[in-house]
Amino acid sequence: MSEIDGTPNAITDTSGAFVRAKALTKRYRPSTTWGHWLSGVFSLPDIVALDSVSFEIQPGLVGLVGPNGAGKTTLMRAIAGLITPDTGQLEVLGMPVDGSQAAFRRRVGYAVSGDRSHFWRLSAVENLAFFGALHGLSRAKSLEAAHAVLTLVGLENVKHRAVREYSTGMSQRLSVARGLLGEPECLLLDEPTRGLDPGNAERLRQFVLDELVAARGIHVLWATHDPQEMKSLCTSLIVLNRGRVVADGSYNHVQSKLEQVFECND
Ligand code: ADP
Repeated sequence: MSEIDGTPNAITDTSGAFVRAKALTKRYRPSTTWGHWLSGVFSLPDIVALDSVSFEIQPGLVGLVGPNGAGKTTLMRAIAGLITPDTGQLEVLGMPVDGSQAAFRRRVGYAVSGDRSHFWRLSAVENLAFFGALHGLSRAKSLEAAHAVLTLVGLENVKHRAVREYSTGMSQRLSVARGLLGEPECLLLDEPTRGLDPGNAERLRQFVLDELVAARGIHVLWATHDPQEMKSLCTSLIVLNRGRVVADGSYNHVQSKLEQVFECND
C-alpha cells in the first residue's frame, strides 16, 4: 500500500484487482511565460490532472478512455511509479507503487506511444539493451531479453537498423517491446495505436489480445481517446473526464456516459 497522504490501510483488499486506487489527486503548477507577465499575470491556478479518483482494475484487458487532457497519461505515469500523486493511495499487483525499485519496474511495464522515448541513432537491440540495464539486468540478460521481445513483437528482421529509420508502426511495436522487457505481469499501454493506419492498428490490437493477454496472461491497461477502439477489445473500461472517473464497467454499461463525455468535448 502506498501511503501518499499518510492514511494507512485505506484500501481494502476485496477482489483480484491488479490496480487499486483511492482518492488519488495530482496537480501541476503551470509555468508563466513572458506573455503572461506582459499582461500582468504573475501566477496561474494549478491544473488538476487527477481529482480524487478511486477505482479498481480487474485482470484482463481494460480500457482507460477519455478525451485529450482527461488525465490518462498522468494516471498511467502514477501507476508506473514515474510520478507521485499529491494525495491518495495506490497499489499495483498488491505492491506499493515504487518506480525507484528495479523489481517494481520489471513487473509493471510501461509503453509510451511515439518514438521520442528512444535513441534515434541506436538500433532497436541497442536501445532495449540500455533500457534492460535500467531494469537492473546484466548486459548479457539485457541483450537476451532484447532479442526475445523484438522477436515477439515482429521486429526481428529490422532489429539492427537505426531507430530513426523506423516507420510509425515499427516505433509503436518497439515501444511495446520496451514495456515487455522485464517480463511484466502488468503492462500499461499509452495510446499504442496512435498514428497507425487501420491495418497496423488492428494487427497491434490482435497481437496484444492474443499474444499478451490470452497466451501470457499479462494484465493490460490500454489508454485511448477512441472509444470505438475499445468496443470489441476490452473486458471493461474506465471512463476518465477532466481528472475524474465518470463511469466504469462493460462497454454497454458505460456507453451512454462515453457518448456524453465525447459530445461535450467536441
Ligand atoms: P491525457 O493523457 O488524457 O491527454 P494528461 O494526463 O496528459 O491527459 O493531462 C491532464 C492535464 O494535465 C491536462 O490539462 C494537461 O495540460 C496537464 N498536464 C499534464 N502534464 C503536465 C505538466 N507536466 N505540467 C503542467 N500540466 C500538465
